[in-house]
Amino acid sequence: MSILFISDLHLQESQPHITELFFRFLTQQAKHAKALYILGDFFEAWIGDDDLTPYHLSIIKALREITDKGVPIYFIYGNRDFLLGKKFFRATGITLLPDEYVLNLYGVPTLLMHGDSLCTMDLKYLKFRKKARNWFFQKLFLMKSLEKRRKIAAKHRADSQQHMATLTEEIMDVTPAEVLRVMEKHQVQHFIHGHTHRQAVHQFNVNGKPATRTVLGAWHEYGNVLVCDENGKQDFLVVG
Ligand code: MN
Repeated sequence: MSILFISDLHLQESQPHITELFFRFLTQQAKHAKALYILGDFFEAWIGDDDLTPYHLSIIKALREITDKGVPIYFIYGNRDFLLGKKFFRATGITLLPDEYVLNLYGVPTLLMHGDSLCTMDLKYLKFRKKARNWFFQKLFLMKSLEKRRKIAAKHRADSQQHMATLTEEIMDVTPAEVLRVMEKHQVQHFIHGHTHRQAVHQFNVNGKPATRTVLGAWHEYGNVLVCDENGKQDFLVVG
């Protein structure tokens, strides 16, 4: 039985194809897995657990069917769905993990993160992240009406797209020194994250020993899953 990793599905009602692929992935792959790790940006946007549209309810139900079958699902917040709250996790049976989590992956300590905090050259984003992750700021936001929150979120996405267009490829990617810093901090040789949408396995050295950084792919036309088995083998699987 394998352990599966996904991130950056950016699920939204206006993308029924991706949503369909995700449902297919749940029943064909996740259902038979040992565990599923969702490393953030699962939803394109989440403005509060009270935003229970039929679309959101259909996803909650599908996730619940998997956890009810005894397949644990774990979640790390992305930069778009960090407002997922207790009600969502209770309804789905998903376990929320901290932003930096060391998983014992078949005996190999492996750091899991979403990856947004690795892009340390994007100062504007880091400033927003600090504010958005503040509990008091979140509380004030969640007190607003759904309609108002929807408007604020839409404006934020438009601003963010404009900001991204001004960034170079280098700024949008992870900062290598920050990768080394977090890996040394957690004393790991293996690291899995998403966020940049640049699916790859990078090999380098940490503390003079071989290390790998696996970057998960986003879900655009197809779904992308990292499959790890007990023999230490890892493969990218395309869901299409
Ligand atoms: Mn992200």
